[in-house]
Amino acid sequence: MSDKKNKAQERYDKLAYVKKNYFEEASKNERNDIYAYAEGYKAFLDAAKTEREACVVAVSRAKEQGFTEYHFGDALVAGDKKYFVNRGKSVVVFRVGTRNLETDGMRLIASHIDAPRVDIKQIPLYEDSGMCYLKTHYYGGIKKYQWTAIPLALHGIVILKDGTKVSIRVGENTKDPVFYIDDLLPHLSGEQMAKIGGKIIEGEQLNVVVGGLPHADAEAGKRIKYTVLDYLNKEYGMCEEDFISAELSAVPAYSARDIGFDRAFIGAYGHDDRVCAYTALTAVLNNESEHTVLAMLVDKEEIGSEGTTGMQSKIYEDLMEDICAALSANFRKVRYASKCLSADVTAAFDPNFSGVFEKLNAAIVSCGTCMRKFTGARGKSGSNDASAEFVAEVRKIFDKEGVIWQTAELGKVDVGGGGTVAKFLAKLNIDTIDLGVPVISMHAPWELISKADLYSNYRAFLAFMK
Ligand code: MN
Ligand code: MN
Repeated sequence: MSDKKNKAQERYDKLAYVKKNYFEEASKNERNDIYAYAEGYKAFLDAAKTEREACVVAVSRAKEQGFTEYHFGDALVAGDKKYFVNRGKSVVVFRVGTRNLETDGMRLIASHIDAPRVDIKQIPLYEDSGMCYLKTHYYGGIKKYQWTAIPLALHGIVILKDGTKVSIRVGENTKDPVFYIDDLLPHLSGEQMAKIGGKIIEGEQLNVVVGGLPHADAEAGKRIKYTVLDYLNKEYGMCEEDFISAELSAVPAYSARDIGFDRAFIGAYGHDDRVCAYTALTAVLNNESEHTVLAMLVDKEEIGSEGTTGMQSKIYEDLMEDICAALSANFRKVRYASKCLSADVTAAFDPNFSGVFEKLNAAIVSCGTCMRKFTGARGKSGSNDASAEFVAEVRKIFDKEGVIWQTAELGKVDVGGGGTVAKFLAKLNIDTIDLGVPVISMHAPWELISKADLYSNYRAFLAFMK
């Protein structure tokens, strides 16, 4: 190459924006850190397959680090390490910093700990043709056909007639039985396979096999159901009516595993959004920031952030207000000065389905956590759309701390889209931007992420709270 060409290349490299692969950029030590961090994350995933379980694990991790429970009205001083549990289904872990809250605000990271799954109906149990099933109503956006013919575990709680709360968790240990949703054999699937994808398996066909052993002492047609009821009664003290006050979910009975000869990826149920919940949690637990920092692990994002435990609940605003009151800070001033990362996953570019992506603005696996200025669908509808000023601020923070990150949109403009909790935080007058890990096969029973993106997400959270 001529000198002139070399110079032009140099100048081009300076001017042009190129995404970087974090594995390539990382030093040998940092690569070790990337792999080591993934081990803790996999353990978290296996322990936390529902929002209730994620809450329990988050609280126990927080307690190990000296965090104590916060209740409305409690006093607070700088240096306090607290967690606030909302109905056992969402949790906010926070640290009180030394900086002036009114001028410097809080640093919030808002993630969600619910994930798509198959919930058990309130009157679920029936017997048919030698098998006993539980009827279900799926939760969140799933491709129903993906949930058939795989091992499922049952997780949740039952509140018995007398008010006793019983926990159920079956299918996670190798000695446990698992559960199962039927699919049709290919030999008889001519008609089924000609249907459109959404109708290949319909909601009322997502019935979970839970038994098959007839009880000698019951009447015909109810013998297997009797065996199951008898078992549930002896094991959990429940009777059929107690399903009415239960929250039981069928979730994939898979544990988190490394994917690939080089173990670059992690396959697991519920990366969306426990990958951001875990990174937010550990970032707050391991933080020594002067800021007041909050990791919010909330429920119900997958069904619109509704209810008392979803991000739209007043409780999170109440908590922030309460913290301000305890520290004698004006809540309005604090909100105005606060900054938030709406921490949720995004779609990773999938070369097998390249048609739905616009590659220039797609998240590439291993190129780091992904910032989205806006989300939404049909012309950014339902999106927070962070200001260029705030994007610039966050960008500067990441670059200063050497975070490898990228920016993207979720798919081609007219193909679809999705929303996050960002708009609910922005509504409080808190500058908010979406950031999170790119996921392959999002919402499938087993999703894929890159270990590099996991660690980049963690590093981005640490930088943001610094
Ligand atoms: Mn999500
Ligand atoms: Mn989701």
